[in-house]
Amino acid sequence: MNKTIHILPEFIANQIAAGEVVQRPESVVKELVENSLDAGATQISVIVRGAGKQLIHIVDNGSGMSREDLSLATKRHATSKIMTVQDLERIMTLGFRGEALASIGAIAHLEIRTRQETDEFGWKLTAEPLKEDSIEPFKTETGTQIFVRNLFYNVPARKKFLRSDLTEFRHISETMLKFALSRPNVRFTFFDADALVFDVKPSDLEHRIIALMGEKSASQLIKVDFSAPLVKITGYIGQPSMAKQSRTGQYFYLNGRSISSRSLSHAVFFPFEHLLDKNSHPFFVINIEIDHEKVDVNVHPQKHEVKFDDERMVYNALSQGVSEALQRSNLTREVHFREQVAQSPFEKMQLSPSSTPNDVLLVNRLTGEIINSISTPKQYSLQSTPSLFSGQKTSDYSQNLLQKTLHTFTPTHQSAFEALFGNENPVASEAKEQNSDLESQPEITVWQLHNKYIFVQTDKGVMIIDQHNAHERILYERALKAMNKQFTYGQHLLFPVKIELSTSEQSLIKEIEDDLMLLGFDFTIEGMIIEIRGVPLDVHSGEEESALKEILVQFEEYQQIRHSDKRDNLAASFGCKAAIKSGHKLSAIEMRRLVEDLFATSTPYVCPHGRPVVVDFPLVEFDNRFGRTS
Ligand code: ADP
Ligand code: MG
Repeated sequence: MNKTIHILPEFIANQIAAGEVVQRPESVVKELVENSLDAGATQISVIVRGAGKQLIHIVDNGSGMSREDLSLATKRHATSKIMTVQDLERIMTLGFRGEALASIGAIAHLEIRTRQETDEFGWKLTAEPLKEDSIEPFKTETGTQIFVRNLFYNVPARKKFLRSDLTEFRHISETMLKFALSRPNVRFTFFDADALVFDVKPSDLEHRIIALMGEKSASQLIKVDFSAPLVKITGYIGQPSMAKQSRTGQYFYLNGRSISSRSLSHAVFFPFEHLLDKNSHPFFVINIEIDHEKVDVNVHPQKHEVKFDDERMVYNALSQGVSEALQRSNLTREVHFREQVAQSPFEKMQLSPSSTPNDVLLVNRLTGEIINSISTPKQYSLQSTPSLFSGQKTSDYSQNLLQKTLHTFTPTHQSAFEALFGNENPVASEAKEQNSDLESQPEITVWQLHNKYIFVQTDKGVMIIDQHNAHERILYERALKAMNKQFTYGQHLLFPVKIELSTSEQSLIKEIEDDLMLLGFDFTIEGMIIEIRGVPLDVHSGEEESALKEILVQFEEYQQIRHSDKRDNLAASFGCKAAIKSGHKLSAIEMRRLVEDLFATSTPYVCPHGRPVVVDFPLVEFDNRFGRTS
């Protein structure tokens, strides 16, 4: 073949580009609304006819264009949004390639009417494939109107691939929903021919969601607001009752741009995992804000997908943000936690009302153990943690103290308890000041069902706690704190234990050796033999070997299915394996400690795998069943 290389005429180049940019009428709507938003419009109307095949008409009140800009706008690579390579690294606008109008002009009849506020009159451009654009003065409002008629009329192959009007229209309305949810401060009006689909006035995100999803959603939205050093996560998730069988109710925005990402969807799903049916997908509208330089939006023809410098960081922030939101929400309906409860099981106690603030005891308020006499907070080292299930016996003295400390909470802790157990409970400060006879205070009533579930009377009914899931949550958080060096979790074994490792166990142990040590394990490895000299406090004596081995197995399993980091996996594996099992009988004191420990965690309602920990039965439920009207 005689090869002659030549540069393609602009029109053909535009048609090729159009193949990438404009796949269906929805793509046109997306590109044009993006342009209106980039032009700073606060009102955007979209009218489509014939599912966008006959006409797509967009009206905005944005900046408008001068005659010069208008004449360039439809040229390929014509953009006002970036100038330099550096600009490409930090894109603040939705568009930047300068391809949309050129592409649309190559496959449809395009008309643009535009006027800048300062101009006396506006301009009208008419473009037809293979013809010179015509521009003439035109009387019009400030802003821009664009008409796209007869889409794909000159590309029959493309037209053939379009779906039914119903399907094509559905794509358009999904895109319109995405826009409307991304900018609650912008008014969007959307018409299907003469029928109004929606008209949403400027408001906040919550009201925008309610306006679009219906009044019913009002009581089901849970606010998400989470900041990590490099990323900010805000928005709303729907309670499990709002979940759908498809992913249609999932809206992600990265710096205001709608994106889709399976991995990030999973990050949101993860904390919901066991609150939802297998095939349900939670509803959410989530905004991710991240430094523009830390993300590349130029990796997908329609920019639906983006590339993060550090996707795992975003994943973790999302999961954590959602999990915190779930934890704050009234998923158990009747129990409202107004504040986060105390993180530490330790309580500072003044020796006597007259003693100086420096002269205090550090008491483990759950076991009653006196840890240290402290003068400044830095001096105490947390050598011990509540060793609820490690078989340690508490002395009579500490038993006695336990009775008291059970009712002595820090203010935050106390408010959580107040929410649960009503206002009759003693106020911490009062209890301290009066040093009153605490024995006479009402006790938390607990009861164990089939050695599995703990029933706790609350002021509104009864709360049922899954003992294994609860303990798993507690140990998971303890492990994380230990690995963050917030306290020493390890205890030395009087008699070191030697065990043999398989090759795979050996390599895994080496991989996570440092974190295992921080967690409280202490060991030396010699060939295939490992000598365990210390274990975390919550590992029962005699179970050192099985604990370590089971944690390794669990860790490996999680590594394959979870995206979270090593420490998180290790903490979850530890929680899962060291937690008290279902079927284990607990004393009343153990149950109370478990309840208190649980509500001192950051997420009492879900275990590290997202399974529910607490189920609430309100009294009215009982009243109804017994035919009482309350
Ligand atoms: P891009 O959005 O990538 O810059 P487009 O082809 O979509 O490329 O638009 C080309 C240029 O036309 C834009 O950069 C902008 O300056 C101008 N433009 C397009 N639509 C509008 C609008 N609705 N209002 C004001 N200016 C617009
Ligand atoms: Mg554009």
